[in-house]
Amino acid sequence: MRAVVYHGPHDLRVEEVPDPAVEDPRDVIVRTKAASMCGSDLYLYQGEVEEMVAPGRTTLGHEISAEVVEVGSGVEGFAVGDRVTFPYSVSCGECEMCRAGQTAHCMTSGKAIYGYGVAFGDLGGSQAEYVRVPLADGHLRRLPDDIGDEVAIFLSCNLPAAVIAVDAAEVAPGDRIGVVGGGPTGLLALQLLAAIVEEPPLVFDTVDYRLQRAEELGGRPVDPERDDPAEVVAEATGGVGLDAVVEFAGRGPAFDLALSVLRPGGVLAGGGVHLEQDHPTSLFAAYFNNLQLRLNGFANAAMGFDRALGLVQDGRIDPTTVLSHRVGLDEVPAAAEAFSRRENGFHKMLIDV
Ligand SMILES: [Zn+2]
Ligand SMILES: [Zn+2]
Repeated sequence: MRAVVYHGPHDLRVEEVPDPAVEDPRDVIVRTKAASMCGSDLYLYQGEVEEMVAPGRTTLGHEISAEVVEVGSGVEGFAVGDRVTFPYSVSCGECEMCRAGQTAHCMTSGKAIYGYGVAFGDLGGSQAEYVRVPLADGHLRRLPDDIGDEVAIFLSCNLPAAVIAVDAAEVAPGDRIGVVGGGPTGLLALQLLAAIVEEPPLVFDTVDYRLQRAEELGGRPVDPERDDPAEVVAEATGGVGLDAVVEFAGRGPAFDLALSVLRPGGVLAGGGVHLEQDHPTSLFAAYFNNLQLRLNGFANAAMGFDRALGLVQDGRIDPTTVLSHRVGLDEVPAAAEAFSRRENGFHKMLIDV
């Protein structure tokens, strides 16, 4: 089959690789119809966590709309021809962590993530014509007829992550809130938040076209490199600070920014993926303000799936509002580079496979 293979930082190649096969009775093989690339994939793509990837073998991608083409003998819930998607991480639904709702920490799969390199199960990614789905009954999801491929790819990661973070923020209509990070998932969180609160959420980002899109989607843009966030927040809140911040930047300085703009007792609902091991953050700042840290960036996407799907079906959010590019498998290497560079207007790609 054809797949996008990682060969090194900023070096993806479309190649012929062996087709995946059923290796365990609980496996399903799916044919990819659409895939995407997540902001969290940029850590791998940009070579920031080289110990986690196997150049020449790792395929990226954990977002998918697919069709079942082969079913292991032990699978009960799926049949050939089913339209499906999966949460980005593999969960069995039965172990102690799955029963506790910590599906990303599934003890059976060993925290396996599709297309996230050797450190997370060494599974094939969705930027390929076929994908092996282990423990299918535990986490593979059937797609309703009214959910098209372009919406389905958001149900693997971005939308459940946004829903989980927004729920954790426990926002009320009168609250003054912020979103740190205006990437695709931050913009989805913004839309969910803007539907709850009366005042436009402040959206902090340093990329102009993202701030512009944030404004179109109901936010009030703030570029911390142009305007002092402390001043903007003080002016917007009468010197009090924000009641809650939803963070989707996944970078140490952005995390610190989120901490700095909260009022005493405010909620930081973190959804960003943080792979920095030793970023210095002031514990005093968090302690002294009684900040409520609710980090769900290693998102239990299987738990947020039904809520995310329901919000789409009720017409309360249209995730395709952050889709900016549509490419074929051959165009993924160039599109990945444009995504990495934050080329003007690049929010989220849909990959037709
Ligand atoms: Zn993701
Ligand atoms: Zn499990």
